[in-house]
Amino acid sequence: MTHFEFTVVGGGVIELSIAKFLSSENKKVLLLEKNNSFGQENSSRNSGVIHAGLYYVKNSLKEKLCIQGRHYLYKSIKDRGIKYDKCGKIIVASSLDEIQKLKFIKKNAERLGIELVELDKKNLKVMEPELNGSGGLFSRETGIVDVHQLMANFLIDVETNVGTIVFNTEFSEEFINQNSIDFIVNNQKNDVLKTQVLINCSGLNSHRVAKNIKNFQFKIPKIRYVKGN
Ligand SMILES: Cc1cc2nc3c(=O)[nH]c(=O)nc-3n(C[C@H](O)[C@H](O)[C@H](O)COP(=O)(O)OP(=O)(O)OC[C@H]3O[C@@H](n4cnc5c(N)ncnc54)[C@H](O)[C@@H]3O)c2cc1C
Repeated sequence: MTHFEFTVVGGGVIELSIAKFLSSENKKVLLLEKNNSFGQENSSRNSGVIHAGLYYVKNSLKEKLCIQGRHYLYKSIKDRGIKYDKCGKIIVASSLDEIQKLKFIKKNAERLGIELVELDKKNLKVMEPELNGSGGLFSRETGIVDVHQLMANFLIDVETNVGTIVFNTEFSEEFINQNSIDFIVNNQKNDVLKTQVLINCSGLNSHRVAKNIKNFQFKIPKIRYVKGN
């Protein structure tokens, strides 16, 4: 097979979920991953937290999609028997100054219909004796999921829907032509593949993949790496 309706670059949790959706709509999908298996990069180095969606810019897509995604995730992981724990999360004010910030977070949560329980210093100690804060908020909606199981389920769905997943296959270059989008993998210049749509969500490599899309002018955001602790 060399002609696809959709080609998804990368085999992390985002690409697998996109490929799952498209294949469930009977689209002819190819997902290509440069590593020898799925989820070897960001998607296997996270904390597996299902976020409530409390901190995003008001009415932003991030806020909207985080909340929609949380509802979808809890439902689908429950239906599929994927390991998860809706354990909740405590947001801690480590000093009296930060109590004001908690008030702001609580007000924002009310706007979004997310329940947060206020904890005073004493309640905080009862819930988590190791914590030494001035106060806190308990978010019931936050949880954790087994990301690997989640990705494995997405992968099974893509293959069940007759989507194509290939490992050890690196997207190299793409040429946007008048009537087709041609691309090559693993620098094999003689094996040209065709796709109607290319979806680039290749994690920390996305800007490099974007630079290899030829014959099309678009702005590639500057990459700024940040280390978080
Ligand atoms: C420390 C840390 C903690 C985090 N904690 C959380 C959390 O608790 N909850 C949460 O929701 N999010 C969390 N995140 C964010 C989350 O991990 C990412 O948003 C998510 O994994 C991104 O998935 P992705 O599929 O876009 O990227 P990746 O998982 O990085 O997938 C991109 C894939 O593209 C492949 N690729 C790259 N270039 C090419 C190419 N040319 N050809 C073929 N394949 C290519 C890569 O090999 C990779 O497998 C955390 C992130 C970090 C770093």
